[in-house]
Amino acid sequence: MINAQPHASHFVNGVPLEDANGAALPVIYPATGDTIAELHAATPAVIEAALFAAEAAQAEWAAMSGTERGRILRRAADLLRRRNQALSEIETLDTGKPIQETLVADATSAADALEYFGGLAGSLTGEHIQLPGGDFAYTRREALGVCVGIGAWNYPIQIAAWKSAPALACGNTMVFKPSETTPLSALKLAEIFFEAGLPPGVFNVVQGYGDVGAALVTDPRVAKVSLTGSVPTGKKVYAAAAAQMKHATMELGGKSPLVIFDDADLESAVSAAINANFYSTGQVCSNGTRVFVQAGIHDAFVKRLSDRMQNARLGDPMDPETTIGPMVSARQREIVEGFIAKGKDEGATLVAGGTIPDLPGFFITPALFTGVTDDMTIARDEIFGPVMSVLRFETEDEALRRANDTEFGLAAGVFTRDLARAHRMVAGFEAGTCWINTYNLTPVEMPFGGAKMSGIGRENSRAAIEHYSQLKSVYVAMNPTEAPF
Ligand code: NDP
Repeated sequence: MINAQPHASHFVNGVPLEDANGAALPVIYPATGDTIAELHAATPAVIEAALFAAEAAQAEWAAMSGTERGRILRRAADLLRRRNQALSEIETLDTGKPIQETLVADATSAADALEYFGGLAGSLTGEHIQLPGGDFAYTRREALGVCVGIGAWNYPIQIAAWKSAPALACGNTMVFKPSETTPLSALKLAEIFFEAGLPPGVFNVVQGYGDVGAALVTDPRVAKVSLTGSVPTGKKVYAAAAAQMKHATMELGGKSPLVIFDDADLESAVSAAINANFYSTGQVCSNGTRVFVQAGIHDAFVKRLSDRMQNARLGDPMDPETTIGPMVSARQREIVEGFIAKGKDEGATLVAGGTIPDLPGFFITPALFTGVTDDMTIARDEIFGPVMSVLRFETEDEALRRANDTEFGLAAGVFTRDLARAHRMVAGFEAGTCWINTYNLTPVEMPFGGAKMSGIGRENSRAAIEHYSQLKSVYVAMNPTEAPF
């Protein structure tokens, strides 16, 4: 197995940085429970060094041409692709996700973001606005300054890149704090950035628990905060950012609906439900965990789904044949077990899974509940684990009303062969990201983000540029200035 211990816990001003006075931060391999690395949380001195470096580097970075900045990002993308195997192994050790997933969805997705925003960096411009009498105005698209990124544990390197790529393309610098559960791959990204030619201080990584995140968010030198995390954390971070009128992007949790009509392609709909609930062992924010199935196809759908669930392969995440890894932590598995117990208590039928297999580590078998009603806890709360709820419905109006009956609004999907109905449904969904006849595809070209309590702002696509830059308006007079006296 590869050595997961990094050179140091943090990466600041272009070099690895250690401060052993910080709280212990052990890294656990979720498939065995073994400690694979020992890190330390950032002390106030480390936080200060990172913010100081980011602030000091920003003006010079912003003064470079967009094309030069983009070239560095694209070089980093190439390095990520070249080292995909090793990076995927690190990500699997850190998260427990099967290697067959990390090889295609983590460092490669990070590389997509760096390539996309690297390509865009040279084309970021303001506009010219002609005014009466020959006067005109123009806008300058300017960087915000120092940005803070805070990540969740399910897609560590992807989250670090989805935040840093647009931030750096726009001329900002960044201090990134990974989730304390998965601190390793952001350090690799930092090393690769600097190998690609990024000036010291432009991208810094500090480790730590929520208090380190809070210290970063409240620092007056920070202009923008982008968080991927839960709604409760989002509320705290958004409030802290608001107190200093900072820019904020909040990518938060969800309880998204996947609506399957009678006329859907059954096999595709079953595949989508599997992907939308069990990929990454269910630890995906946009998962379609409320699967509404129309009465006419309901029984056939449940039968086919439970048959196919027998083919799930739990086990060693490093085995390329494994399709289901462990949960990220013992704590997360306990939470999921609690929800499964609640589902049973409240009267849902556990058709498959939800058991603890005879394996080391934090495994749980994918669970399928039928007979779920809208008021049950498993249909209302984000579980963040492999628990699918199937809810039966009769009519389109009913499906839409029930799909929207949630405080969340991250994502939604619909399966039907009726084109008009598909577009009516997505127009009616109260969600930031929707899919027709597929689920959970998030290419970098497409905006991604939530509505309602699932957050504000968008990542990926040109839309992200709006969230990492600001416009300065400049009025230019071409005529003498007059005054009333
Ligand atoms: P948390 O909300 O627990 O934590 C997110 C990050 O915020 C962590 O790095 C955490 O540090 C940090 N943090 C905690 N408290 C504070 C604070 N007061 N100030 C600043 N930072 C703080 O989420 P999880 O890591 O448990 O991730 C799961 C959640 O993330 C789910 O709700 C999921 O839906 C959501 N998510 C959303 C995505 C999206 O794009 N919309 C994508 C992926 C996940 P620490 O870990 O040390 O507590």
